[in-house]
Amino acid sequence: MRPAIYPSAKVQREETDGYNVKSSENMRQVYMDYGSASPVDARVLEAMMPYFDKDVGNASSLHSSGRKAKRELESARQKVANLIGAPNPKSVIFTSCATESNNLALRGAAMRYKDKGNHIITTSIEHMSVMNPLKDMQRSGFEVTYIPVDKDGLVNAEQIKNAITEKTIIISVMYANGEMGTVQPIREIGEIASGRKILFHVDGTAAAGKVPVNVEDEHIDLLTLSSNDMLGPRGVGALYVKQGIRILPFMLGGGQEFGMRSGSENIPGIVGMGKAAEIAQKEMVDEGARLIKMRDRLIDNILKMEYTYLTGSRTKRLPNNASFRFSFIEGESIILQLNDLGITASTGSACSSKTLEPSHVLLSMGLRHEEAHGSLLLTLGRYNTEEDVDYVIECVPKIVAKLRALSPLYPRK
Ligand code: PMP
Repeated sequence: MRPAIYPSAKVQREETDGYNVKSSENMRQVYMDYGSASPVDARVLEAMMPYFDKDVGNASSLHSSGRKAKRELESARQKVANLIGAPNPKSVIFTSCATESNNLALRGAAMRYKDKGNHIITTSIEHMSVMNPLKDMQRSGFEVTYIPVDKDGLVNAEQIKNAITEKTIIISVMYANGEMGTVQPIREIGEIASGRKILFHVDGTAAAGKVPVNVEDEHIDLLTLSSNDMLGPRGVGALYVKQGIRILPFMLGGGQEFGMRSGSENIPGIVGMGKAAEIAQKEMVDEGARLIKMRDRLIDNILKMEYTYLTGSRTKRLPNNASFRFSFIEGESIILQLNDLGITASTGSACSSKTLEPSHVLLSMGLRHEEAHGSLLLTLGRYNTEEDVDYVIECVPKIVAKLRALSPLYPRK
């Protein structure tokens, strides 16, 4: 079912043959920014609704409404555990977002195990919710090694192995990078970490629900998850903490979530995340194949343009990620022009960030500033159709050609 916010309205072709077209009510709306924010699946929304105004009990209360909330909480925990192959649902702790989960995992584990060592290994392409807590921890005596990536955005497990010292207590590597789509060799790194008895934290935000993640097989000790990235509501996340691992909580209070994250549980949100995890688990194979087909059609067609490159690995890639670089033009201009044609997309170029710097992820892959400036990120999702892909394939080349015609850098024949 396609939610009302993404009407599959008719395209006014006569208005869209150029570029600079103002949005009109009848224009086709194509949302391809699932990596930044996703619509909530209609089935998830339906499952959540009763917990806003009918079944409103607090999961710690003894009355039947409270006991129902507690049952729903535990049922959602089980569904999230099933999605990631966690043998014990008690290892899933609900939080408010992936940022909180990353902070809790890194600070919580580092503070708990600081007597064993002060060294942490991570990569140069992590999300800011990993980078910034680590930078902060460096100011209080922790040492962090940032492992670089190759031109495809891939981390080399051997380099991680070589960076391990007697003082290494945590290795933190993201499962996949939502900005350039590359999926990392997590099992290989997990084997190295577990062989050396080092905690392995994985930021699974962009990957869980899209590709199979299994905490047991991949030797993951701490796994960050986000609800919205699997079409659940915003304001909910989770952290998997392998049984037996102790972390120091930073939210202290009533002792909810096994004492690791106090605060009355967000029951509607958690029910939604549980439902989203259940749907993702059931539909991942078919939905993954559908997304890969659309992704590859986008990639194959857009790469037909000259001076156009794919960002990230062609093969080890998230099913929903099509990310490009266009020489001689700016990502912001592409985004705004696409917006005028009803297409919502993203860029890692300078002005989309608060620092006015291109994304650290693109720079870490060895791109020069001017290369990183022309980036376009299309992230697909459950409500995209082949017609959406047709429309994007039709619009992007026109916009790129028009912007290049205006660019003083573009080599004229
Ligand atoms: N980790 C990764 C890999 C992400 O892509 C994001 C952003 N979706 C986050 C963490 C942080 O997510 P949030 O802003 O929902 O906390």
